[in-house]
Amino acid sequence: MNNEQVRITAERAAPDRGVVEAFAAGLRGGVLWPGAAGYDEARRVWNGMIDRWPALIARCAGAADVAAAVRFARAHGLLVAVRGGGHHVAGSAVCDGGLVIDLSGMQGIRVDPAAGTVRAEAGATWGELDRATQTWGLATPGGVVSDTGIAGLTLGGGLGWLRRKHGLAIDNLLAVEIVTADGRLRRASAREEPDLFWAVRGGGGNFGVVTAFEYRLHPVGPEVMFCFVFYPARVAGAALRFFQGYCAGAPDEVSAFAILGTVPAAPLFPADAHGADFVLFAACHAGPVEEGARALQPLRELGAPLADLSAPMPFVEVQATFDADYPAGELRYYWKSRYLDALSDAAIDRLLALAAERPSPLSTVDIWQLGGAMSRVGAGDTAFGRRDAPFLLGVEANWAAPAEDERNIAWARRACAAMAPFATARSYPNLEAGEGLARAAYGANYDRLVALKRRYDPANLFRLNQNLAPS
Ligand SMILES: Cc1cc2nc3c(=O)[nH]c(=O)nc-3n(C[C@H](O)[C@H](O)[C@H](O)COP(=O)(O)OP(=O)(O)OC[C@H]3O[C@@H](n4cnc5c(N)ncnc54)[C@H](O)[C@@H]3O)c2cc1C
Repeated sequence: MNNEQVRITAERAAPDRGVVEAFAAGLRGGVLWPGAAGYDEARRVWNGMIDRWPALIARCAGAADVAAAVRFARAHGLLVAVRGGGHHVAGSAVCDGGLVIDLSGMQGIRVDPAAGTVRAEAGATWGELDRATQTWGLATPGGVVSDTGIAGLTLGGGLGWLRRKHGLAIDNLLAVEIVTADGRLRRASAREEPDLFWAVRGGGGNFGVVTAFEYRLHPVGPEVMFCFVFYPARVAGAALRFFQGYCAGAPDEVSAFAILGTVPAAPLFPADAHGADFVLFAACHAGPVEEGARALQPLRELGAPLADLSAPMPFVEVQATFDADYPAGELRYYWKSRYLDALSDAAIDRLLALAAERPSPLSTVDIWQLGGAMSRVGAGDTAFGRRDAPFLLGVEANWAAPAEDERNIAWARRACAAMAPFATARSYPNLEAGEGLARAAYGANYDRLVALKRRYDPANLFRLNQNLAPS
């Protein structure tokens, strides 16, 4: 179908105009449909490969709007997509022909420094949340790119620079306000609706539309030691072997990555390295700067680096280090993930070979160091799928030309499959473009999640996600 046909199909999927107008009149935000001013902008998400045309976009201004939108979707049998920050690689924040419940206008943030908590509406991004909390020298674990939404990232677990010191985002979640499929606004916490609270901590968007999150805060920074050192690919094997040993002995304050990629033509790298492959160590130390400098120093002593940008840095800057690598709307993205049981010599050799086959210089192979605080929470205490793995592998296909889609997607799938001997089948749903992975992602928590899905969303209204089918 061409764009015009898609637009007409989207329009036809909507209820009669009079019905839509009555719905719109009842919202404090507004409603957009194909052709309306702002519609095209509002249907775009971070992944430039996603081009979907919803029949309606409800731009919610508060929880009452969200509840009205959920009831409207049910009454008219509309497919529902929920948009927080719009960053999921699968583009599940937007749908063809249904209703998008768009929370991007809900960005209120209130820090309570005395209680050490923050309440944030579901359209906020990590950049905004960090800015508010860091004003008080406080932070809660989020992600490593500042324009991702707090909503999708938290509901899927939330891995960031504080994961080993303070756990996942969900480990610091105190409560959510959530509109369930019956249109009711509820509060879920350890005391109120504890089953629902268990399920939203890792179970993604399966259980309703969260309108606000309340997190515990910790003193962090405002300045922390950050390591960001690039080495040439010829030392990558030795570097990854070193990384595995370093990670085994690192204190909880350190959360590190090893990343295989291609040197961009930027002045900070020697000109003769442009276009060659690199291995990058990126690590944050969430404690005093001098202690951090000592703890991260070994990562900086593997021979002559291509570039070493390590320095004490404001935590909010650390949180934005990778932002420029992930422009919204411009690039096409397809990502996959697997928990690695170990970083053995054979696994390292395989990773290096797969990295060398990347069809796009923008693509990377990322190894996340796990462990520490996130691994000390019980496997069944939250719905999150796996906590005991020492590493998470992220295979990121990032490219620009539509004609290159097939080659890049095939590489990401092949690379992930080739790591099967070194990885459990479990993936991290937040970093997964694939579908139908829920059973494999949740392991022993899967059955309890499905039972709760049956209780809270028996008709599977919320199904554009890593779906837990109720039957
Ligand atoms: C550049 C980039 C960097 C990333 N870095 C990290 C990282 O460091 N750590 C990490 O853990 N993950 C990371 N991710 C993955 C990230 O966690 C997911 O993409 C997450 O879905 C982003 O949240 P969002 O609100 O922007 O997503 P959206 O695309 O808006 O939503 C994704 C899905 O989440 C659900 N959802 C969203 N909002 C709500 C809500 N309010 N109520 C109910 N369900 C909702 C819906 O099912 C929706 O389809 C990164 C992703 C990108 C693109």
